[in-house]
Amino acid sequence: MASDKTIRYPTSAARQEYERNRRKLLANEDVCAICGQPVDKTLPASDLMSAAIDHIIPVSKGGDPVALENLQLTHRKCNRRKSDKLPSVRAPEKPAADIRPEEWESW
Ligand SMILES: [Zn+2]
Repeated sequence: MASDKTIRYPTSAARQEYERNRRKLLANEDVCAICGQPVDKTLPASDLMSAAIDHIIPVSKGGDPVALENLQLTHRKCNRRKSDKLPSVRAPEKPAADIRPEEWESW
């Protein structure tokens, strides 16, 4: 009996690479890639102005989940605003299964 469960969980190697790139980004970048304002990396994760890692091309759209080239430093607030793109503005493409970076980040 073959298993039909093909849920793709990130491997621990991918997770490690993501962690490494995330730290690299936090060490090298000081400015939010979305609003251009400085990011205070000492703020707790619960703070909207704290640092968050954003996927430039969302993983759900084929973006690389761990590559440094696809990651950017943002404010949590800005990251959230980006992933919330209001449908009222224009919604030509609204993938139902869009993985939000924050959820992805908490694997
Ligand atoms: Zn920002």
